[in-house]
Amino acid sequence: MTPKDVGFDESRAAAAPSVSGFGGHLWAETDAAAAAIHREEHHVAHNYHPLPVVVASGEGAWVTDVAGRRYLDCLAAYSAVNFGHGHPGLVQAARDQLDRITLTSRAFHNDRLGPFAEALAALVGKDMVLPMNTGAEAVESAVKVARAWGYRVKGVAAGQAKIIVAEGNFHGRTTTIISFSTDEQARADFGPFTPGFVTVPYGDAAALEAAIDENTVAVLIEPIQGEAGVVVPPEGYLQAVREATSRANVLFIADEIQTGLGRTGTTLACELSGVVPDLYLLGKALGGGIVPLSAVVGNRDILGVLRPGEHGSTFGGNPLASAVGLAVVELLATGEMQRRASELGDRLHAGLRGLMGRGVTGVRGAGLWAGVDIDPALATGREVCERLMERGVLAKDTHGSTIRFAPPLVVSPEDLDWAVEQLAAVLDDLRG
Ligand SMILES: *Cc1c(COP(=O)(O)O)cnc(C)c1O
Repeated sequence: MTPKDVGFDESRAAAAPSVSGFGGHLWAETDAAAAAIHREEHHVAHNYHPLPVVVASGEGAWVTDVAGRRYLDCLAAYSAVNFGHGHPGLVQAARDQLDRITLTSRAFHNDRLGPFAEALAALVGKDMVLPMNTGAEAVESAVKVARAWGYRVKGVAAGQAKIIVAEGNFHGRTTTIISFSTDEQARADFGPFTPGFVTVPYGDAAALEAAIDENTVAVLIEPIQGEAGVVVPPEGYLQAVREATSRANVLFIADEIQTGLGRTGTTLACELSGVVPDLYLLGKALGGGIVPLSAVVGNRDILGVLRPGEHGSTFGGNPLASAVGLAVVELLATGEMQRRASELGDRLHAGLRGLMGRGVTGVRGAGLWAGVDIDPALATGREVCERLMERGVLAKDTHGSTIRFAPPLVVSPEDLDWAVEQLAAVLDDLRG
C-alpha cells in the first residue's frame, strides 16, 4: 500500500516542518511527524500508546526528531540503552562483526559465542550462559530450566513443579509469563493460562517462605520491581529470600533484565543487598541497544540439566549479538558505568527529593533510576510526560501517576540537572 492509499500526501511528508523550537505546540503538528504517526496508526497494531514524538536519530543521552528538535532521553528504552545511543565502542563491535558473519544458528559453533559467554559468566560470578534474544525468552527459559531441575535433581513428582512469584511483577508478555502477572490489563482475554505458579506479596519474606512446599522448585522475583513503578523492597528482603530458598532447596531466580548491567550503580541490583541468587536473567542493556540479546546465567549444577534438543532458539547466541554482548561486558568490566550510575544517581535523587511537596509525593529507586509519584490531584503521569516532551525531556509514565527517570548512564551532570529543572517547571505550570 502506498501512503496515498491511507490518505496523506507524500509531498507533505517531506516538506519542511511548520513548527520550530519549543513553543508549546504538539510536536505532531509538524508535517513529517504527522505523516509518520499517521502511517503507524494505520499499519501498526495499537498495543502501545506512544508520546507524539517521532525520533529520527540519537547520540549519547540525546535523540533528535524528524523536525530536528532535540530531547533528553530519560527512558533509555526501558534501560536497554544504558550506555547511550550510538556508543562508539559498541557500534564499532557491531560494524566489525557485520563484515564477518552475523548468523550461523547453533547447528554449528561460531567464534564469538564462547568468548561472550565466558566473559559474561565471569562478570557475574557464574559458570554458564544460556543465550536467548528477548527478556521474555530468558524468563521462559528459566521457567523450563527450573522445572527440569526440580524433576531431575530435586526429585519433584512429574507435573507437580511450582514456582513462586511476587504481586506486581513484570517478567514479559508471553502466554506463560502473563499467566502469573497480577496486572489485569496484561491478562484480560488472553487465557487460558499456564498453571504451576503461586503469587505472594512483594517484599514480604515471611509470606514467601510460608508458600514454599515440597513441590516448589523456584522463586522468581525482580530485585527492584521496574514496571511496577521502581518499587524497592524493604531492607533485608532479598537476604531473607536467599535464606528461605537455600533452606528449602529451592532455586532463587533474580530477574535482572531491567535492574542489571549498571543501572543501579552496581553490575547487578542483588549486589546492593549482598545477595547471590542461583540464576540471573539478563536482557535489555546486554544487547547494547543494538541487538536483542538476553541470557540465563548460572552454575553448571543447574544449567547443566539441559540436554541437546530440549531447548533452543534460531537467533540465540548468534555471532553479531555475541560480539555486541562481549563489548558490553568489557565496558562493564571497567566499573566506570556503574560508578557513573551511582554518582549521578545521588544527584538525580537529591534533585527529585527537592520537588517533594511541589507536586511530587514520593521518590524511589537506586542508582540512576527513579520512580516519581505525581500528586494525582495535579495531573496524570501521562500529562506530565506530554508537558516534559514539550520542554525537550522524554520520560514515561507507569500505573497512572508514576513517572520513571532512567536516562542513559552516559548523561552529563548538567543535562541531568536540566531534566530535573524541566520537571520542576512542569509541576509549577500545573499548580498555576
Ligand atoms: C523488560 C522486562 C522483561 C521482558 O523483556 P522483553 O525483552 O521485553 O521481552 C522481563 N523482565 C523484566 C524485569 C523487564 O523489565
